[in-house]
Amino acid sequence: MRRPIIAGNWKMHKTVQESIDIGVGLKRKFYTFSEADIVICPPFTALSKVSAVIMDSAIMLGAQDMYWESEGAFTGEISPSMLKDAGCRYVIIGHSERRHIFGETDEAVNKKLKVALKHGMVPIMCIGEKLEERDHGMTFEVLEKQLGRGLKDFAKDEAVRVVIAYEPVWAIGTGRTATPQQAQEAHKFIRDFIERTYDKEAAAKIRIQYGGSVKPGNIAQLMAQEDVDGALVGGASLDVNSFTEIVQNAVL
Ligand code: PEP
Repeated sequence: MRRPIIAGNWKMHKTVQESIDIGVGLKRKFYTFSEADIVICPPFTALSKVSAVIMDSAIMLGAQDMYWESEGAFTGEISPSMLKDAGCRYVIIGHSERRHIFGETDEAVNKKLKVALKHGMVPIMCIGEKLEERDHGMTFEVLEKQLGRGLKDFAKDEAVRVVIAYEPVWAIGTGRTATPQQAQEAHKFIRDFIERTYDKEAAAKIRIQYGGSVKPGNIAQLMAQEDVDGALVGGASLDVNSFTEIVQNAVL
């Protein structure tokens, strides 16, 4: 049985104090919670403070990106050990905004995933097709390419530690959610890819989140799909009440 995982990606939102306030609010709701993994990914500037706030609660901390080197002359970048030092257990890798706004390649995603695992972190690897790719019937081709290149040279025991987030680009921040059927179809494709590449055991283990305009009102239907194991939530994770409802409705 796969453990559900709900993660909040705050993107480039919230000051340190605002982040602390959300952390305090969420800690009140999820001081203890055993039905799912709950992860919040504030901006880098707030990680340490939020880490201190949510300590001893059921909420875990994640970052939104990182570089693959441990340290050195890489102005503007942040390393896995720095993130761990700030309290992060999770890290989002290859978000579509990184890929499409900042030109992040599958090869960079592959390096970052490897290094995250090496440091004992859990990477959340984002994949997903653009609207024109879906319209041209290329969804599975795009997913296959991103999976194959992202997980290149990963042994089975490494691959199963990665959380995969299927995030159709056309559903991110648009208010347009994939239907539960569209999500299930893509998630099944991803799970089948893992089975083809590794085996049935790996496919049964790997957790696949859906991301794209997830709200308190649509999470239950998405989670009801056989291959949907959780959600990566953007906008709706910025509010304590809506994120709380999403987590609660996910495990109803
Ligand atoms: C995201 O940023 O990963 C995301 C899914 O955003 P939203 O929930 O706002 O669509």
